Amino acid sequence: MAECERVPGCIFFHDRMTDLPFAAEVLKQKFCLGSNIDCARHMIFDALGKEYVPTDLYPNDVSRAERILADAQFEDAGPQGAAGSDAATAILDDV
Ligand code: SF4
Repeated sequence: MAECERVPGCIFFHDRMTDLPFAAEVLKQKFCLGSNIDCARHMIFDALGKEYVPTDLYPNDVSRAERILADAQFEDAGPQGAAGSDAATAILDDV
């Protein structure tokens, strides 16, 4: 159990998402301050880069992250091709 290295720039952790989930504090304890291994945002960041992390992706939405990663395997069109159709991408933040 360790704090995620993305905490300083993560819009989810700092409540800068447009629509925070009801259980945001519970998710922060589980993922951000517990283990980031299964965090959907972290998965996309590590595999594709911060520009591919949708601004409205919750840490527990692994199924959406897996779809984004699967799409990225078949597309080579940059951020809009891989994740842009699903949501706006993070521009100013690390995660
Ligand atoms: S939401 Fe995910 S990427 Fe962001 S700080 Fe928490 S564990 Fe890290």
